[in-house]
Amino acid sequence: MHGPVDFLASSAAVCDAVLRMRGPALVEELGRIAREVTGSPHGRYVPRDMTPATGLPGWETGLSQLIQFDSQYFGRFEVSGRDAYSDASRQHLASLASLAASVLQVHSVAQRTTHAYVQVEARLQHQSQILDQIHESVLTMDLNGFITSWNKGAERLFGYSAVEAIGRNIIFLYDDEDETFDDAFLEQGGRLMEVRRKKKNGEVFWASLSLSPLCDMEDRSIGLIAYLTDITERKQAEERIHHLAYYDALTGMPNRSLLTKLVDQALTVALRSHGHGCVMFIDLNRFKLINDTLGRTVGDALLREVSQRFRLALRDQDVVARLSGDEFAVGLFDIHQHYEASMVANKLLDALNEPFLIDGHDLRVSASIGISVYPQDGNDAETLLRLADIAMYRAKQNASTDGEHIAFYSQDMNKGMQERMRIESGLRQALGNGQLLLHYQPKYEISSGKIIGAEALVRWKHPERGLVPPAEFIPLAEATGLVVQVGEWVLEAACAQAQAWKEKGLPPIRLAVNVSAREFTSALPGRVMETLQRYGLEPSWLELEITESTLMHNIERVIGIMDRLTAEGIALSLDDFGTGYSSLSYLKRFPIDTLKIDRSFTTGIPVDTNDCAIASTIISIAQQLKHKVIAEGVETAEQLAFLKDSGCDEVQGYLFSRPLPSLEFERALLQNWAPPEPIAASA
Ligand code: C2E
Ligand code: MG
Ligand code: MG
Repeated sequence: MHGPVDFLASSAAVCDAVLRMRGPALVEELGRIAREVTGSPHGRYVPRDMTPATGLPGWETGLSQLIQFDSQYFGRFEVSGRDAYSDASRQHLASLASLAASVLQVHSVAQRTTHAYVQVEARLQHQSQILDQIHESVLTMDLNGFITSWNKGAERLFGYSAVEAIGRNIIFLYDDEDETFDDAFLEQGGRLMEVRRKKKNGEVFWASLSLSPLCDMEDRSIGLIAYLTDITERKQAEERIHHLAYYDALTGMPNRSLLTKLVDQALTVALRSHGHGCVMFIDLNRFKLINDTLGRTVGDALLREVSQRFRLALRDQDVVARLSGDEFAVGLFDIHQHYEASMVANKLLDALNEPFLIDGHDLRVSASIGISVYPQDGNDAETLLRLADIAMYRAKQNASTDGEHIAFYSQDMNKGMQERMRIESGLRQALGNGQLLLHYQPKYEISSGKIIGAEALVRWKHPERGLVPPAEFIPLAEATGLVVQVGEWVLEAACAQAQAWKEKGLPPIRLAVNVSAREFTSALPGRVMETLQRYGLEPSWLELEITESTLMHNIERVIGIMDRLTAEGIALSLDDFGTGYSSLSYLKRFPIDTLKIDRSFTTGIPVDTNDCAIASTIISIAQQLKHKVIAEGVETAEQLAFLKDSGCDEVQGYLFSRPLPSLEFERALLQNWAPPEPIAASA
């Protein structure tokens, strides 16, 4: 009665139950099918992990069938209640168990897989959420650079949506068309780098890019993960800092640091290729004058214009830098002959020929250029600059004698420079160590033969070199500015001496102090008056000797300072008169007491007719302008006679006296003023 059709129906029922049912319902249904297939009144399905509390009724004759697939066990069928079970029934139950086992097996696999799938799905979802949350843009690509994923950060950064980006090659984001995917990514994979990328709107930006390999389960590389951050702001800040560090704010030109760097680089190349180059040190002449007279704004504008002209005069590969103030430097990195360097230097000088029109002023500046050549002069930028500076200094000196504004560095310049520096530092110490002293050279009135004053002349009592004359250190002190301190010391020492003489009751005289152009500032009158007061001296004790060249700088300002001095009763005399180029029209306006005929003219008297003519002209000018006139450097009686005849008022020179130490001067003064000897008086 239990045919194959029934068995088939039962098989289908097993499949159906396993697929659709769970728990007790499944247990119940499988038991029912087992009963049905074997025609048993009792029967059940006992799942793997269940132990039934009671046995089935009539179990003695019942059947049990394990449900098993491979080694996997799913429980058993139990049926009972029939007196006996035929082989066919056993067979059916076994077949049913086998079918149930394989269906349960397949189902459990499927169920587990589904579960795992759901978990993976959830994790992926999770991860992409995290990726989208982070600000950074993260994208992945395959080994050929085709984008495989694209997070929200990437959308924000580049402006392309994931749909637009995924599947395209990463190269479409590059700014530089020459950059290839292989170079940039595969070789540098895992590295951090800074790159330029392009947004959808065409904007190019700087990004920091970090790449790490993307691997499959077997750890085989299948692509790259890229993390990108926009660093444009930082890059711009860096560039600004770089610009500040390497460029001059006023002119926008490279500064000393950048020049040094570039020259050093060029030197390395030159050493390998046996090339030559040179460094030029350029200093503008008389720039300070313009700056002081017309003000900083004009000075700055002039510097900007000058740098523009230099730039235009040079080739692109040459570097021009502003070092400081009115100092510029040029690096020529590939020259073959010295003359090329001087050609370029001349071009630079020519560039200054045209006047500069600034703020309504028609300005002219020239420059002095020193050149050092590498590799022969030096092997590093600092040395080359230093040597070019020395050469420039020489060029400046030469310019006044031979008009040549360009000088190449040479060894003996260096010696001169070292000497110069030695003197400078020695003089600084001399100021602090009381090594300076004053000598006094009497000035005589020709008509009376009386000493009416003295010129205070500074000397340096050098510990090794003995008494150093001012000619050996004053010009240097003027170049370095140290002359201001020297001048302060001299005024102080001269006033102290005058006070001592005054207190001793010596006849009152005028002490003349030399004032250099550098000292001749608007602070001078105040300083002089304050010093006189401190020593209890009337202004008539003091006279200031100013050189003609002092007057040529900013005449209005100079006259203002002179007026303030003379208003206080301080006498002014014009030293070295005739050597400069003061125009007579100006001379009229200077509130001067005395003109001092320079020694170079006195020397030629009476032999040199030219000198004689000059001396007598100066005397007549002085007379017309109602100035007194004194001749310095009078060594002979003939000179004195000529000067006396020409109407000169006073004389100073070796004929009467050399500059004397204070005690000797004191003696000379007392003698000169002593009443005539009784014999002479009675004669
Ligand atoms: P100076 O102001 O024209 O001074 C006159 C110079 O001529 C002095 O040289 C003096 O000794 C020298 N002299 C005077 N009579 C004769 C003479 O008959 N024959 C010869 N051959 N020379 C004579 P000294 O003392 O060597 O000073 C040289 C220059 O140094 C001065 O020229 C002056 O320009 C500068 N100097 C001296 N002392 C000072 C100072 O305290 N401050 C400043 N700024 N400059 C000073
Ligand atoms: Mg003098
Ligand atoms: Mg003089």
